[in-house]
Amino acid sequence: MSSSNSAVILLSGGLDSLVSLGLVRNEYEKILALTFDYGQKVFKQEAAAAEKISEYYNIKCEIIKLDWLKNITNTALVSDNEVPENITDYTLSMKSVWVPNRNGLFLNIAACYADSFGYSDIIIGANKEEAATFSDNTEEFVNRVAAEFEYSTLVKPKVRVPLIKYDKRKTVELALEHKMPLDLVWSCYNDGEKHCGKCESCIRLKAALQACGDSYFINRLF
Ligand SMILES: [Zn+2]
Repeated sequence: MSSSNSAVILLSGGLDSLVSLGLVRNEYEKILALTFDYGQKVFKQEAAAAEKISEYYNIKCEIIKLDWLKNITNTALVSDNEVPENITDYTLSMKSVWVPNRNGLFLNIAACYADSFGYSDIIIGANKEEAATFSDNTEEFVNRVAAEFEYSTLVKPKVRVPLIKYDKRKTVELALEHKMPLDLVWSCYNDGEKHCGKCESCIRLKAALQACGDSYFINRLF
């Protein structure tokens, strides 16, 4: 199977991956979503969100197990360490939830699928807002990894980053404008029934929804 009109998307089930998918869905005949289980405390919620989003957009979703990753990190996303709340310093928060080479690894796994099955593009939900503290969300990082694929694959997939110029407010604005199912996402770092509203990811999402004048999704998610 080889198709020049197909893509692999990194789908965590969070806001950025949903909106990235929603923006490009109609451009492709076929999209494969990859969702990773690296021992994160919210894997159950993320996998459920990714599956519902995949169903909504009529694409296939595959779970990739990375059992070893949690064994080499103490990040608050996988360990008993508490996820920072009421954040004033995003750099400190970033360090406590940093997973070693996560986007680098995920993009390379997507490239394995692209190279094996002929997917022409890889899509990642990196974005301008988080790029300020997460270096693996920057345009420069993505361009460099894409350049690596020129050598490490035969298919040479293109890497697309639909949100690279957008902050969370613009991302939510696009979601609302295109009537995307924001109530399906799981963006929270903490395990629970609903989004905690206190972790970095929740603070960013909630602020963006508020800035867009939304109350419907705030009530559904938090
Ligand atoms: Zn949260």
